[in-house]
Amino acid sequence: MTKNFTKTVENFICIVCGYCVNGNGYTNHCPHCLSCVHVDILPGDRACSCQGIMDPVGFEIRNGKEYILHRCRKCGFERKNRVAPNDSREAIYTLSASLEIKKSY
Ligand SMILES: [Zn+2]
Ligand SMILES: [Zn+2]
Repeated sequence: MTKNFTKTVENFICIVCGYCVNGNGYTNHCPHCLSCVHVDILPGDRACSCQGIMDPVGFEIRNGKEYILHRCRKCGFERKNRVAPNDSREAIYTLSASLEIKKSY
Protein backbone atom coordinates (compact mmCIF):
# COMPACT_ATOMS: atom_id res chain seq x y z
CA MET A 1 0.00 0.00 0.00
CA THR A 2 2.91 2.37 0.70
CA LYS A 3 3.63 2.87 -3.01
CA ASN A 4 0.31 4.70 -3.28
CA PHE A 5 1.27 7.19 -0.59
CA THR A 6 1.78 10.69 -1.91
CA LYS A 7 3.70 13.03 0.34
CA THR A 8 2.02 16.40 0.34
CA VAL A 9 3.57 19.13 2.47
CA GLU A 10 1.03 21.79 3.22
CA ASN A 11 -0.10 23.97 6.05
CA PHE A 12 -3.78 24.27 6.70
CA ILE A 13 -6.24 25.86 9.08
CA CYS A 14 -8.37 23.34 10.94
CA ILE A 15 -11.98 24.04 9.96
CA VAL A 16 -13.22 22.53 13.21
CA CYS A 17 -11.25 24.51 15.80
CA GLY A 18 -9.34 27.11 13.73
CA TYR A 19 -5.91 25.84 14.77
CA CYS A 20 -3.14 26.53 12.25
CA VAL A 21 -1.60 23.16 11.41
CA ASN A 22 1.96 23.01 10.13
CA GLY A 23 1.83 20.18 7.64
CA ASN A 24 4.82 17.86 7.48
CA GLY A 25 3.48 15.71 4.67
CA TYR A 26 2.15 13.06 7.02
CA THR A 27 -0.16 14.99 9.29
CA ASN A 28 -3.67 14.68 7.97
CA HIS A 29 -5.49 15.59 11.15
CA CYS A 30 -5.49 18.53 13.51
CA PRO A 31 -3.08 17.97 16.44
CA HIS A 32 -5.25 20.24 18.57
CA CYS A 33 -8.75 18.71 18.25
CA LEU A 34 -7.77 15.53 16.28
CA SER A 35 -10.39 16.17 13.59
CA CYS A 36 -9.59 15.92 9.91
CA VAL A 37 -11.31 16.46 6.59
CA HIS A 38 -12.28 13.70 4.18
CA VAL A 39 -10.00 14.56 1.27
CA ASP A 40 -8.14 11.33 0.57
CA ILE A 41 -9.19 8.12 -1.13
CA LEU A 42 -5.74 6.68 -0.59
CA PRO A 43 -3.71 8.30 2.19
CA GLY A 44 -2.21 11.55 0.90
CA ASP A 45 -3.74 11.56 -2.57
CA ARG A 46 -6.28 14.37 -1.89
CA ALA A 47 -8.48 12.74 -4.53
CA CYS A 48 -11.76 12.59 -2.61
CA SER A 49 -14.36 15.26 -3.29
CA CYS A 50 -16.37 14.54 -0.13
CA GLN A 51 -14.70 17.26 2.04
CA GLY A 52 -16.77 16.15 5.03
CA ILE A 53 -15.46 16.70 8.54
CA MET A 54 -14.07 13.51 10.05
CA ASP A 55 -14.50 13.31 13.81
CA PRO A 56 -12.24 11.23 16.04
CA VAL A 57 -14.56 8.43 17.18
CA GLY A 58 -12.17 5.79 18.39
CA PHE A 59 -8.73 5.18 19.82
CA GLU A 60 -6.70 2.02 20.02
CA ILE A 61 -3.19 0.82 20.66
CA ARG A 62 -1.96 -1.99 18.46
CA ASN A 63 1.60 -3.36 18.58
CA GLY A 64 2.59 -0.38 20.69
CA LYS A 65 1.34 2.08 18.08
CA GLU A 66 -1.52 4.45 18.73
CA TYR A 67 -4.31 4.90 16.22
CA ILE A 68 -7.23 7.29 16.03
CA LEU A 69 -10.35 6.11 14.25
CA HIS A 70 -11.93 8.89 12.22
CA ARG A 71 -15.48 8.85 10.85
CA CYS A 72 -16.76 11.21 8.18
CA ARG A 73 -19.84 13.21 9.20
CA LYS A 74 -21.01 13.40 5.62
CA CYS A 75 -20.61 9.91 4.19
CA GLY A 76 -19.78 7.76 7.21
CA PHE A 77 -16.41 6.65 5.85
CA GLU A 78 -14.06 5.40 8.55
CA ARG A 79 -10.29 5.34 8.59
CA LYS A 80 -7.62 4.66 11.17
CA ASN A 81 -4.81 7.18 11.37
CA ARG A 82 -1.57 6.91 13.29
CA VAL A 83 -1.23 9.33 16.17
CA ALA A 84 1.36 11.94 15.21
CA PRO A 85 4.15 12.96 17.63
CA ASN A 86 2.81 16.51 17.74
CA ASP A 87 -0.76 15.51 18.54
CA SER A 88 -2.19 16.97 21.72
CA ARG A 89 -1.80 14.35 24.45
CA GLU A 90 -4.64 16.06 26.26
CA ALA A 91 -6.98 15.64 23.29
CA ILE A 92 -5.99 11.98 22.96
CA TYR A 93 -6.50 11.44 26.66
CA THR A 94 -9.91 13.12 26.50
CA LEU A 95 -10.87 10.98 23.51
CA SER A 96 -9.81 7.70 25.10
CA ALA A 97 -11.42 8.66 28.43
CA SER A 98 -14.74 9.45 26.72
CA LEU A 99 -14.61 6.06 25.00
CA GLU A 100 -14.04 4.35 28.35
CA ILE A 101 -17.15 6.10 29.69
CA LYS A 102 -19.20 4.91 26.70
CA LYS A 103 -17.98 1.33 27.22
CA SER A 104 -19.08 1.27 30.83
CA TYR A 105 -22.70 2.10 29.99
ZN1 LIG B 1 -8.70 21.33 15.07
ZN1 LIG C 1 -16.76 11.60 3.49
